[in-house]
Amino acid sequence: MEHGEQRRVLVVGMGISGMATARRLRLAGWAPVIIERAPSRRLGGYFVALFGAGRAAAERLGLLEHLHDRKSLLRGVDIDRDGRQRPGMTYSDMPGQPWLMLRSDVERAAFESLPDDVEVRYSTVPTAITQDPGGVEVTLLDRSTSTSTTERFDLVVGADGIRSTVRSLVFGPHERFVSPMGYMIAAYEYSGTPSGLASGVGATLLEPNRSMWVYAFADHDPTVLLSYRTNDVEAELSRPAAESVRAAFGAQPPHILADVLDVLETSETVLFDSAEQVRMPAWHQGRVVLLGDAAWCVTLYAGMGVSAALAGADLLGTMLEQRPGDLEAVLTDWERGLRPYISFYQENAFADRGFFVADNRLQIMLRRALPTLGRTRLGKRLIDRMFHVEGVITYKSADILREVLGGPPHPHEEPHVV
Ligand SMILES: Cc1cc2nc3c(=O)[nH]c(=O)nc-3n(C[C@H](O)[C@H](O)[C@H](O)COP(=O)(O)OP(=O)(O)OC[C@H]3O[C@@H](n4cnc5c(N)ncnc54)[C@H](O)[C@@H]3O)c2cc1C
Repeated sequence: MEHGEQRRVLVVGMGISGMATARRLRLAGWAPVIIERAPSRRLGGYFVALFGAGRAAAERLGLLEHLHDRKSLLRGVDIDRDGRQRPGMTYSDMPGQPWLMLRSDVERAAFESLPDDVEVRYSTVPTAITQDPGGVEVTLLDRSTSTSTTERFDLVVGADGIRSTVRSLVFGPHERFVSPMGYMIAAYEYSGTPSGLASGVGATLLEPNRSMWVYAFADHDPTVLLSYRTNDVEAELSRPAAESVRAAFGAQPPHILADVLDVLETSETVLFDSAEQVRMPAWHQGRVVLLGDAAWCVTLYAGMGVSAALAGADLLGTMLEQRPGDLEAVLTDWERGLRPYISFYQENAFADRGFFVADNRLQIMLRRALPTLGRTRLGKRLIDRMFHVEGVITYKSADILREVLGGPPHPHEEPHVV
């Protein structure tokens, strides 16, 4: 690279990770090119939480001003097969005071904050990546015209999600890094309010090994999450989503679930997949680095995918800005700083999975007792331990960049428990 010439970074994937990284690196003086496999933006809008770690990064990235907490103040209900409703818990009862929103809220904020001079190429994928000490050669296939070109970059960021092509081209096959948790998820938007539910009221149906969540918002239609256990991901994925989900939930669903399943049949936004974690011994190799779900997918059960993506991009861009001539050392230090947080989220996904979908009736009974338990000091302490409140404050609420790079302490938010 000539002195004074802008360094080129290829960002593969235009999800939240990719756009946040492109924006931060542009601010740090790099020239990003984003390639996205889809022919246009992916606008799907399932529920996501934004914890303190994500909000701190979003604020520095200039995204937070476009976001707000959509939390409904109405108490959620727990329903059963007979249509009975009782007071229940919602995601906002989780410790850490997450903001509740839709993926599309963050996607839009990230897209609108992309500087105009960031180049975006849709329908484009990488097909070969080779590196030498001075740069990375990437062969890019434009699928709309079936033409390939090879270009040189100073850095490649693989932000191409859980089934990352960059990861398989540079680090190894998916099977080496991706492990299914044994649960299928169907997530989608619901237009209006399911019959039997008041507007703004969230609902859960908890049964051993399967659950339905209706996430209600204060100022938006709800989204739905159906989760169930499976030993055969391939078989589940081989059928249409609605068919697999109906088989898992039984022939005679109670009324709210019946309504929600009817909408699934016709939904154009459904995300149907197995919950899988990505675990890698290293997130970078030479001048190629993975970020977001491609590197560490923590799964929805941790509620930290968006927050970790923003925090990872914020930290990476800041470190590259501070030490521009030191790529290998920066990538090593970035990874060392970020890894304890990601490790906590990955463990936390296993710990909190039972909150989403329980293993047995005992767990469900305990879960139903939590609101009452939380009224006593002893019960509150038990709940704090169950939900690892201390770890949540240290890892999910932390301003990661400040913790890793130093700086004035960030006022931790008070834990919020039932
Ligand atoms: C149902 C569900 C609920 C969730 N709930 C939460 C939550 O509560 N809180 C939270 O923080 N997170 C949650 N997450 C996770 C969160 O949505 C992601 O972690 C986050 O959006 C970051 O994703 P990403 O940008 O790394 O990957 P993705 O969103 O998967 O984006 C990857 C992009 O790369 C593109 N791409 C893929 N392959 C290629 C290729 N070969 N070439 C070019 N482009 C390619 C894809 O089209 C896509 O646009 C949830 C996820 C799901 C599925």
